[in-house]
Parts: sequence; structure tokens; C-alpha cells
Amino acid sequence: MSIKVLEPQVVSRIAAGEVVERPASVVKELVENSLDAGSSQISIEVRGGGVSLIRVTDNGAGIPSGEVGLAFDRYATSKISSLEDLESILSLGFRGEALPSIAAVAQVDMITCAPGERVGAYLSLIGGAIASRGSQGRAQGTTVTVRSLFRQVPARLKFLKSVATENGHIANVVSQYALAFPEVKFSLSIDGRMALRTPGSGRLIDSIIEVYGVEVAGHMIEIEGEAKASSPQVVGMVGSPKVSRSERGQLSFFVNRRWVNSRLLARAVEEAYHGLLMSGKHPIAVINIWLPTQEVDVNIHPTKSEVKFRNEHLVFSAVYRAVRQALVEKMPVPRIEEVAVAYESPSRQAFPLPAQVRLASPAPWAPEVPTSPLPVLRVLGQLDNSYIIAEGPDGLYLIDQHAAHERVLFENIEHQRSQREIEIQGLLEPMTLEVSPRQGEVLRSHYEALAEFGFSIEPFGDRTFLVRAVPALVYRKDWVGMLRELLDSLAEGGKGDWVEGIAKSIACHGAVRAGQALTDAEMRELVRQLEQTATPRTCPHGRPTMIHLSSGQLKKEFGRT
Ligand code: ADP
Ligand code: MG
Repeated sequence: MSIKVLEPQVVSRIAAGEVVERPASVVKELVENSLDAGSSQISIEVRGGGVSLIRVTDNGAGIPSGEVGLAFDRYATSKISSLEDLESILSLGFRGEALPSIAAVAQVDMITCAPGERVGAYLSLIGGAIASRGSQGRAQGTTVTVRSLFRQVPARLKFLKSVATENGHIANVVSQYALAFPEVKFSLSIDGRMALRTPGSGRLIDSIIEVYGVEVAGHMIEIEGEAKASSPQVVGMVGSPKVSRSERGQLSFFVNRRWVNSRLLARAVEEAYHGLLMSGKHPIAVINIWLPTQEVDVNIHPTKSEVKFRNEHLVFSAVYRAVRQALVEKMPVPRIEEVAVAYESPSRQAFPLPAQVRLASPAPWAPEVPTSPLPVLRVLGQLDNSYIIAEGPDGLYLIDQHAAHERVLFENIEHQRSQREIEIQGLLEPMTLEVSPRQGEVLRSHYEALAEFGFSIEPFGDRTFLVRAVPALVYRKDWVGMLRELLDSLAEGGKGDWVEGIAKSIACHGAVRAGQALTDAEMRELVRQLEQTATPRTCPHGRPTMIHLSSGQLKKEFGRT
């Protein structure tokens, strides 16, 4: 479409307003124009916080030489022409306001070359008026240079923050568009320093690597949008709870690839992380929502940074569901298959000793009963599917597999809790838990303690509670039974140490049972883990984990002394 000045009745319907608030606003408008022009490469150069210089160069469609001047007229746009067009806006710009607004507060040069033109057109404006024009060689695309921003507007200039702050806003704007348009090669240079460069590979993860770094990128989980005609399609990536940040503002939302701020969408994402993040932590997310243009009004805010959804509920729940599902399905859960790999031989039965229960160094807390460390043991076999027979430098060891595993898990849970590293498994659908009035009372006063261990529980009526997440260790176990038992024991125990009580209970329910056959590899792994605990000889309830028959005792038994 060629550039035309909008009819007054269209102008009266657009939410016009001041678009140039700070240097980053100029960058945003120019980058949006480059994207609307279909560019595959956009480079941005800024100096002096954007006040001295902002230059945006693209390889997009360019402007035909005859229309270059018109581009700087107010309400001149090539993107819409009628009222009906307002209903179906897919371009980022549509008001024809940015270029004239920028030209009014800065010195602007534009060189542009449209396909089929032999040379590019050059235009220079001072104070919004054309100062000179001509032709200049250039490949297809457009370069806009903005100098001395706000020099004639001292009030604006005074309002600006430090160069570093303005640079930060600019870097954020470019980062957001780099995330929204992974197929476009972006580069941002700040005072001659390359601040951001994306490969334009079309893969979101590549943009995330550049914006957030490889560390974060390694923990991003893909959201797969539902392919339903009736609901918006939600695509993007969210951070696993491991890469959460303590500050807010790591949520990027795009609606049909328009970068938007939205409290509604932020709430949907935060809800989806419910129970999976420690309190005070905030998730990272990059989400694009595709929906029919009639379903969203992009024309409600001067800088177009807010939009209005026709059906807020639909959008909210689509985002919530997509994120929740991705998190729950793709969160690392200790699974039998993984354990089998770690154990060399396939296990015959579920034996959930997750790889991460290995402790690198002795646990930092003091053992309740000082016990001597365990020597290195050699596993000989299993007795009665319940005991591990092992040999040490000083005789025979009969190890109770359940008690031993309980000890291992107990120390690890305590350690993970103190480090706030408990592994949590979210439930796809929250589960309701009905309890007795007494259990309910105990539960109400122990939410926080339970949350520290990975249970996310909230009231849902008088005696009903909603469980959204549980410790990964008991996910595949009877954690409902475990909770009831725990609540009963907490009710009985009065002021006992409930933190320890919870840890014991999780360890007990997560541990391998008596009567379960174990492979040699599984037994070796369990014994190795037991060797690393601080108190290997007793289970958390204080019962022995093993019987030791020293060589001397054996000799005596056999009447050899
Ligand atoms: P809007 O983007 O709302 O249409 P602008 O003032 O930002 O208004 O731009 C006016 C017009 O100038 C655009 O409609 C477009 O036709 C043209 N234009 C601006 N920048 C570019 C560019 N980088 N490449 C091609 N055309 C451009
Ligand atoms: Mg524009």
C-alpha cells in the first residue's frame, strides 16, 4: 500500500497521543517500522543514551522516492486506510504518527531505497520541516538517523535518567523484539559496544540464548500451543522453576507478535507456576499469543503497549493451561527409566532412588547420635527381598533396605530443604483432599512447613483442600495416605518438631519397601549412598539400619576362639 494521509474520521478513532517519551520510544517506533517493512536484518546504533544518536538500518521494503516526504506527515501511513482496517491490524504501526512525532523533537535523516529504484532517496528534517532532500546510493532498505533528541525540549531532556538507565531501556526494547522475531537478525551497538546480536535463525531458543544467556536457555521449556480453532494459540518458552529470578519483569508477552504489557497475562503465568516456585521467586517466560485480529483491540493505548482482549477469560485460561501443562509434563521427575540408566542394568521394579539423592559431601547438620562412619561395603546379595547382605573390612553386614533408604532420603530432604532445593512435582489438575476437622486444623497451621517440603496446599472449603504440587519423592507414592498419617501424628504430637516429622514422613513413604526385589546395581547404589550419610547406622525413627557381625563375633559363633 502506498502512504496516504488518513481521513479525519479515521484519525478521530485512533488512540493518538505522545509516542516519544524517551530515547527507547524512538528505538521502539523505528524498529517496529523496520519489522513492518518485512526486514530480515535490523541494526541499531545508539550513542549518549540515545540522545546524541539513534540510527536504525534495515533491509526491508523501503519507501518509494515519491512518498518519502509524505512519511513525515502526521497521520500518513501505508498500513491502514479505512475504519474497517482498524479491525484487522496485523502490522505493528498503523497511526502514521511516529515519524512526524520524532521529527518534531529531533533532527532526522532518512535514506531509503524501494525495490526497482536505481538510487535511494535522501531526506533531512530539522524541527519537523524538510531541510534538504536528494538522492543517494543505497541497497534496498531504510536507514533512519535521529540526532540531538529533545534538544529543543529542555523539559523532556531534564526528565531523562542517566545514560546507563536510558541504555537499559533501549536494550530492553531491542531484546523484546529479538525474542518476538527470532527470524530477524538484530544487532544493537551502544556507544560502539556490541550489546546484542541475534542470529536470525528463526528458532526462539537462539534469541533466548542471546538475551538471557546459555545458562537460562538450558532450562527453558517449550510451550506447545493447542491447535484448537476456538482458543488462542499460545507458543513460546518458559523457565523451569530452577531458573526463577528474585525480581519481577522477566515475562515477555506478545500478542500476534506485538510486544504488550498485560497484568492479565502476568497473572495467568504466575498462577501456572503456583506451588512450583519458592515464595519471592518469579518466573521467566517468553510467550506469543496468536489470535484472530477481531479478538483483540490494539488501539487503546498511545504507545500500543496495552491491548484489550474481547474474551479475557479465554485468553487467561489458554495461557494458564499451556504454561501449566508444559511445566508439569516436562519437569524433571525421578523416573524408573532414569534410575535404570544410572544403575547400568535395567531394574526389575520401581526403585525410585533419584540420581540427585547422592550427596557429594557429608551432610552439614549434626547427626543426632554420633555414630562411626560406615566402611566401604561390598554387596553380596539380597535376603528375603528385604535385606542386603554385604561384606566389610571387618565382617558381615545385614542391611535393612527400607530403613537404609529412609536414612538416605531423610538426610537429603533435610539438606535440600535447608538449601531450598526441594524437588517439586506439580499435578496436572489440582487434587482435592478431604480431611477430618482435626486434620484440617493441623493442616491450616502447617501450610508453610509443608510448602517448604514441596507440598502446595490451599483451603477449598471447610474441610476440603486443594493440592497443586507434591514433593517429587512421593509423587508416584501414596502421598494422600502419607499426608493423612502425617496430620494425625502432628495432631497427636503437639509441639513436637513438625519440620523433622514431615521430613521423616516423606522419607518413609518415598523409601523402597521391604519385600521388593532389588538388582545388584540398585543395592550397590543404595549402600554407596548410605555410606555417605552422617548417621548411617540408624533410620530417622532411631531404629537400626543394619546388623553387623564382626569377624571376631563370627569366629566366636563358630567356636573358633
Ligand atoms: P505507521 O508506522 O503508523 O504507519 P510511521 O510514522 O511510523 O507510521 O511511518 C509512516 C510510514 O512510513 C509507514 O506507514 C511506512 O509506509 C513508511 N515507513 C516508515 N519507516 C519505514 C521503513 N523502515 N521501511 C519502509 N517503510 C517505512
Ligand atoms: Mg510506525
